[in-house]
Amino acid sequence: MSATAADSATTTPAPDEFASLSPRTGAELARYPVHDGEHVRAAVRAAAEAAAWWDGLGFAGRRSRLAAWKKVLVAQLDRVARVVADETGKPFDDARLEVVLAIDHLDWAAGNAQKVLGKRSVSPGLLMANQAASVAYRPLGVVGVIGPWNYPVFTPMGSIAYALAAGNTVVFKPSELTPGVGHELARTLAEAVPEVGRYPLLTVVTGFGPTGAELCRAPGIGKIAFTGSAATGRRVMAACAENLVPVLMECGGKDPLIVDADADLDAAADAAVWGGMSNAGQTCVGVERVYVVDAVAGRFLEKVRATAAKLRTGTAANEGDLGPMTMPSQTDIVRRHVGDALSSGGRAIVGGADSVRDDGRIDPVVIADVPEESVAVTEETFAPLLVVNRVPDVDEAVRRANATGYGLGATVFSAKRGEEIAERLRCGMVSINGVISFAGIPALPFGGVGESGFGRIHGADGLREFTRAQSIARQRFAMPIVVTSFRRTAKTMQALLGIVKVRHGRL
Ligand code: NAD
Repeated sequence: MSATAADSATTTPAPDEFASLSPRTGAELARYPVHDGEHVRAAVRAAAEAAAWWDGLGFAGRRSRLAAWKKVLVAQLDRVARVVADETGKPFDDARLEVVLAIDHLDWAAGNAQKVLGKRSVSPGLLMANQAASVAYRPLGVVGVIGPWNYPVFTPMGSIAYALAAGNTVVFKPSELTPGVGHELARTLAEAVPEVGRYPLLTVVTGFGPTGAELCRAPGIGKIAFTGSAATGRRVMAACAENLVPVLMECGGKDPLIVDADADLDAAADAAVWGGMSNAGQTCVGVERVYVVDAVAGRFLEKVRATAAKLRTGTAANEGDLGPMTMPSQTDIVRRHVGDALSSGGRAIVGGADSVRDDGRIDPVVIADVPEESVAVTEETFAPLLVVNRVPDVDEAVRRANATGYGLGATVFSAKRGEEIAERLRCGMVSINGVISFAGIPALPFGGVGESGFGRIHGADGLREFTRAQSIARQRFAMPIVVTSFRRTAKTMQALLGIVKVRHGRL
């Protein structure tokens, strides 16, 4: 790791380095290099050489090494979580939970890669009965991972663990707000796998947007897995388009939670508050909008109020239930959303405009009856702001839930109709009678539609995302009727058409 000690760094960082800061205290934690194009290209070249070795190990060789990494992560869980908490400002136990979930995904990816990606035979069909057909999912080589800061272990590991298990090596550009977490991931892998000294499996490059753009353009990059805002995602896609580099886009969301008339209201209120406020609302699949049917709206709102009003935002000395905004500039967006929700007719149930403080701390805000045109309903807020709107029935809740360009996750609380409502939602993942549950189930693919992106991390789809399907057809014997040769005659064509009529021409 190339960070310099924090206590020696009291001056302004040089142009080729930057400081990582504590969102709680503003203190400098460490400094990291701003890597330029030359450095990034060299990292990708070295990763490409390592990829040949890593691929050659086969599934079993990779599985044992990834299991060793898992063991080191478990043993050093608190050390890694401490860096997460320091750089993001989130409570320590939230950071631990994030690392726990990432470890579970690493285990699943390593344990299932062979079953999902290994070579398997498929039927050649009647017309090609003389062929043996097989498909295998081969690695892409080097995968570039560009990560966000809100879940700096869990989110990028959804790409890193699955890409490595599939036989790729990775060059990782962590967010400029959480570079230390990126180094922790690389450090623990190097500790677990001694060959990493010679074969860099996971290389961290640090810096801002331009460093990420260099990664997109580096010759030899097989795919870019991007997690961040849709606006940055568009820039990443434009850079990748130059060399036809495929992309995986995990972007933002404006996730709804629907409360049906027969829902368990205590559980629904608890889920709405946790889903909306945990990690200070900085969760891509966090609950931002609630649609509750009229019949139970009053009781539900009272329960949400009672739960949210008890939450405390931490200070520099005290962790609290919520940390501060990791990115202080976010407070301007939150102020605009809260202001617009209130001035357009919303009713403050918990907190209000004063809850958004200049020091980056935001206390929970719950606003009811906000017009659907308000930016608090249409744009991602990424803060502890929950909008709760009443609807006459579930049909209207579904209509409003789907009336957005985003489509990441969703939550449904209903005793009887959970699955039916879930299937009508235009999004990538739904939790029923629980919140964000899908993210903790490694077998479930994770990703969105529309402005929330495309492609999937996690699960079998998440493994295949970092591969190319390779199809092989091997002729076992010559067919009596040859149709793909200039030796073909009118008679052989007639015989073929006869077979097709018998096989496909009848109902
Ligand atoms: P961001 O878009 O500002 O930055 C994401 C990453 O892209 C950073 O590492 C940044 O340095 C890099 N970057 C910036 N400009 C670039 C460029 N031109 N080329 C290449 N890379 C560039 O996002 P953020 O603020 O770090 O993260 C918050 C956003 O991420 C929210 O919208 C949130 O919803 C989303 N998010 C989505 C998921 C998901 O899985 N769908 C998970 C977590 C966060």
